[in-house]
Amino acid sequence: MSVITTVCDLLDEYHGEKQWSNGRPILDELIYTILSQNTSAANSDRAYESLVNRFETWQAVAGSPVEDIASAIKSGGLANIKAPRIKNILLQIGERQHGDTNLDWLAELTDKEAVDYLLGFEGVGRKTAACVLMFSLGRPALPVDTHVHRVAMRLGLIEKVSADAAHDLLAQIVPAERIYSFHINMVAHGRQVCHARGPKCSQCVLDRICRWAGSNKGG
Ligand code: SF4
Repeated sequence: MSVITTVCDLLDEYHGEKQWSNGRPILDELIYTILSQNTSAANSDRAYESLVNRFETWQAVAGSPVEDIASAIKSGGLANIKAPRIKNILLQIGERQHGDTNLDWLAELTDKEAVDYLLGFEGVGRKTAACVLMFSLGRPALPVDTHVHRVAMRLGLIEKVSADAAHDLLAQIVPAERIYSFHINMVAHGRQVCHARGPKCSQCVLDRICRWAGSNKGG
């Protein structure tokens, strides 16, 4: 059995296998993911709820002063960066689509075409684009956040590379049908077990196949 299959199996056994079900509409997921940048899930949930409660439509957000948008999302942190980012993206989409901000048509594109389209917006990087494809459309795009990046390098699944470079490398080795559960469980593992400082290797189900744990045991 390959190492990646073993990692997926052990993570599923420990954290529970995750199945993708319906996601948010594509534009909603894009805005949510921007709100989730550099903050906790609880904060981004609060900011997103506040934003959609304050404004009736995405067109209304696009037409509002950036200060009002920042006020609506302030619970999520970095509101002064995220508010203009969100407004600019909405304005650009509206300009391209004659006022319509619906992005459901992206579902007709290939993964690469959809990712390339999303990467064309300022403030949208590899992780954000992959989140939109995976969470909204259930596509086998693998977002690499700080937890996935750290745990994958410690395990030895990838060498020491940037998180951006890790997207392609991990997507090549994780079977498409396991990407969703792998992503969710690697994030959980990074938060609960494989902490940035003081990983709990003695309690980790991956320790016997982990390069980092093995090299530390060996002194
Ligand atoms: S064995 Fe240690 S370093 Fe390796 S994945 Fe588990 S907690 Fe992280």
